Formats: sequence, C-alpha cells, structure tokens
Amino acid sequence: MEEENKKGHFIEAIIKEDLQNNKNNGQVLTRFPPEPNGYLHIGHAKSICLNFNMAKQFNGICNLRFDDSNPAKEKQIYIDSIKDTVNWLGFDFKTPFYASDYFDRLHEFAVQLIRKGKAYVCSLSPEQMREYRGTLTEKGKNSPYRDRPIQENLDLFDQMKNGKFQEGEVTLRAKIDMASPNINLRDPIIYRVKKATHPRTGDKWCIYPMYDFTHCLSDSLEGITHSLCSLEFEDHRPLYDWILDTLETPCHPQQIEFARMNINYTVLSKRKLQLLVEQHHVSGWDDPRLPTLEGMRRRGYTPEAIRNFCNIIGVSKKDSRIDMGLLESCLRDDLNERAPRVMGVLKPLKVTIENYPDGKTEEMVAMNHPQKEEMGNRAIGFSKQIYVEQDDFMEDPPKKFFRLGPGREVRLRYAYLVTCKQVIKNEQGEVIELICTHDPQTRGGNAPDGRKVKGTIHWVNANDCLDAEVRLYDRLFTDENPEQGNQDFTENLNPDSLEILRNCKLEKSLGATAPGTVYQFERLGYFCQDLKASQKDMPVFNRTVTLRDAWAKMSPKA
Ligand code: ATP
Ligand code: MG
Repeated sequence: MEEENKKGHFIEAIIKEDLQNNKNNGQVLTRFPPEPNGYLHIGHAKSICLNFNMAKQFNGICNLRFDDSNPAKEKQIYIDSIKDTVNWLGFDFKTPFYASDYFDRLHEFAVQLIRKGKAYVCSLSPEQMREYRGTLTEKGKNSPYRDRPIQENLDLFDQMKNGKFQEGEVTLRAKIDMASPNINLRDPIIYRVKKATHPRTGDKWCIYPMYDFTHCLSDSLEGITHSLCSLEFEDHRPLYDWILDTLETPCHPQQIEFARMNINYTVLSKRKLQLLVEQHHVSGWDDPRLPTLEGMRRRGYTPEAIRNFCNIIGVSKKDSRIDMGLLESCLRDDLNERAPRVMGVLKPLKVTIENYPDGKTEEMVAMNHPQKEEMGNRAIGFSKQIYVEQDDFMEDPPKKFFRLGPGREVRLRYAYLVTCKQVIKNEQGEVIELICTHDPQTRGGNAPDGRKVKGTIHWVNANDCLDAEVRLYDRLFTDENPEQGNQDFTENLNPDSLEILRNCKLEKSLGATAPGTVYQFERLGYFCQDLKASQKDMPVFNRTVTLRDAWAKMSPKA
C-alpha cells in the first residue's frame, strides 16, 4: 500500500505529465462540487481529500463550489453545514463559489448555443420525451420540434425565461444525435422550467440549467484544469466535452473519473441516508451511527483519522468495498496517540473497603497517557467506597479470570491491591455490593513483598464522581452489503446498533471536558461528550470506538 502511495495514483500521474508538458500554463486548479441537497458523508471526504490534496501537492488551488442548480431540493442549512464540515476536515477554501452565481452567464451560453443552431426548444411532454429517447439497444427518434428556426427558438426560450410556460411544457435541448449509442448525447435537456424559489437567487429565475450543462461551464468559467469526479459521470464526459467544444468558452478542463468509496456495513448515498432519517431509524443527519461527516464528528472521529483513511485507501478506477474495520483502525491509531486516559465505570458495582478509614480521601496520581509523560498526571480521589465494573467480578470465576472473585486479590489501577472478602446480594440473588480489604502497604499498586497480582481493574471513587449516560454504538447494519438484492435495505438494520447505559460513573475530571476531546476510558474504549445530547445535570458520552475490533474476532475467517 505504501509503495503505491509513493508512486502516486493515476490522477497524480496525469497531473504530473500535464505539468511536464506545461499544459494549462503549469497551473493546477481543482474543485469540490457538492450539491447542497443533504449533508456530506465519508464518501465525499474521499473527493474532498483528493481535490484539495492534488491542488496542494502541485501548488494549485481547490475551489469549493456549490452545484446549486436544482432549487427544489437545496437548502441554506446544507450549504452552511458543508462549509463547516470542509473546514473541520482541515481544508481551507477562501470564498466558496456557487453555480448559481453563473446563472446569467449560463443563460448567455444557452442563447449562444441556439444561435449556433445547436439547441432548440422542445414542446414534447415528459412522457413523449421518454418515448422518443429510445433505449440502450434502440435508437431514439428526432423530436418534431428539432428543426424549429433559430429565431423561433430564441423567442420561445425568452418566453420560457419570462414565465410564459408551465413546468414540463417545454424544455431547451442540445441538438446532438438521437441515434447516438450514448443516451446522454440524445439531445439532452439543458434548461427546464422550474417555478421554485432558489436559496440564493430567490425568484429571479423560473428556468434552471441542468447539471450537465452547468457543471462543465462552471468548471470552465473558474479555469479548472482537472475536473475530478466519480465513475458514474464517465458516460457524461462526451457531453461535457461537446458543450465546451461547441461553445466559445474560456478553457476546456479535463474530466477524470475515479471510483466512489463504498464501505461495508453502511450505506453511502444521500438518498438512502435521508430515508433512514425520515423513517426515524436514526435520530437525525448527525446521528453518531451514520457515515455522515456530521455524525462521525459527533461520535468523536478526528479529521486526521478520516484524512489518513482516505489516503490509505487511495484512488483508482476500480469499484471496491472497503472494510469498516479499516476506518475504525485509522481512528484507533490516531486516538491512541492523542486521547487522554481516564477511568469510568459503565455498569457499576459498589465496593466497600472495610479496613479503609471512614471519611478519609487520598489523592492518587494517575498518568494522562502511560506512554507519554509529557501529557502529565492528574490526581484522582480514593476512599472507602468505590465502583468497579460488574464484569470485573465473577462469583465462581475460572482460573484464568484475573479479576475479582471471592478471596481473590486484584490491583486497582493507580491505587491499592484489594481482596474480595464478602459478596452481598439482594433478595433476587443479584450481587449488589462487594466487601473488600486493601493492603495499605501497596499504595500506587505495587506489593513491597513482590507478590504477583496479575489483574488490574479500573474504578471510580463513589463519593466524588460524575453520573453520566453512555451510548454504545455498533454497526448500523448487520449485513456487509445492506444494499444487495432488491429487498428493502432497512431490513438489514442492526437492532442493537445503539445501547444506552444510564447509570454510569465517571471520573470527576470529565465534568469539564473541552468540546471535541476524545478520551480513552481505560480498558473500555474511546469516548467523547455528546454536547448536543448532554443535559446540565446528566452529561452524555458517546463511545467513539472500541479498543479492539470485535467484528474481526467474530468473523469466521479470523
Ligand atoms: P450521493 O450519491 O451520496 O447522493 P452525490 O454524488 O449525489 O452523492 P454530490 O453532492 O453531487 O453528491 O457530490 C459531490 C462530489 O462528491 C461529487 O464530485 C461526487 O462525485 C463526490 N462523491 C459523492 N459520493 C462519493 C463517494 N462515495 N466516493 C467518492 N466521491 C464521492
Ligand atoms: Mg449528485
């Protein structure tokens, strides 16, 4: 993988060659062109990283350009979120560009096309249009309106612009070739009537340019040199080139396609993500289980981990499905370096240290990162009553269970060696408390006599801790490829993708967490505060990722 990265991917190679040939006067200008009709997902991150990194690598510029030519579905909240998310990912765009800023110029280009006899106003209804278009195996038929005189087309197009027609009544079509094997070239629509208010141009327009017309011309107007897009646009490239070759445009950018990112156990399509939100399978666009960048950010993903992931998977022309485990391992690698360590108990079991003085509290010294002294220490209180994890006790433990059991001794991290003396149960027979003793000679966790105590468990001081809710997330789908087949993909949702624990006890220091800081709860995983869900008296923490890949262990291959 690294070898491949050193050589660079095929797009890098194309750009290098262009630079050697002094194509585009040695300039590199790319763009990331989201349509503001939803929130960005991890797939978009691939395109963002690619476009911004190519510009950076070759001393060029990458524009953020909103492809906002379909007012029906576009909203300002999406624009704001996309800007914020691109910045959060670590990329700097100066001022965003908008395709809607070119509406006047695009209109002029359309008129130019009509004057050249290369576009006509078509009065076929949408159904007729479909009929005339033909199929993959059958040629299309010419529209009866195809040979309208230029002046008539100019007049009709003007009337379209002035609101004289209803939606669907007329369209402006490029006059290319109804017999082309490429359906995109069968006189594609380039302007349609749409009586919708645009988030930026308001009610100025009632005709809007189609994506294929807008995109290539916006690229050209901005002086884009390399227009990088995903593979589904490959069949649109002849149209991209036809428009730019036919019109007098400032430049002719080169469209280059690459494979989209797919990840297993999730879906990466705005439409499907929207469905999950609308049908309340998740709490919203920023649900921490979603692969949206807003959701991932809320969950505790770092921009570094996402950028690194995009870097590792590389760029190619071949479609593939990436293992979610790889994304999570990039996240672990990053968090392992930077996350401060703390202690928290998710399913608390009370422990009373019977030989510890009543009312006494000691300050124990805990390291914020055992491998990084420079991250410093903190004091944590220890007293007669603490909480440990229910899972760290077994009434009848097997020999290899190096945790608490009747008569067994364990190390409380950063504190003392303690021995379990008595188990207290409620009427239902459930264990509700352990009575232990501590060895006062073992402060800090070491026995002066050198006796071996294998197990070390985490704990929290009972009379000075933070009550919190913790949300554990798992894969959103149980099926590796939830979209497979024609069955409803929501049937593959994982019913256990969210587990809420309401009685968690966390180390006091977590009462004041800086926004966005992810912590390692020792032995449990990485967690961060969910600022949106937290209440004043009940903070909520998200599990960002587990310490190890539980799914790898479960798969039969491993
Ligand atoms: P979706 O299919 O999820 O709705 P889209 O392609 O319609 O996504 P756009 O806003 O048009 O969303 O995408 C902006 C840019 O991001 C496009 O250039 C598109 O090719 C790219 N992109 C979208 N999804 C992916 C993906 N999964 N992998 C790589 N690039 C992507
Ligand atoms: Mg799109």
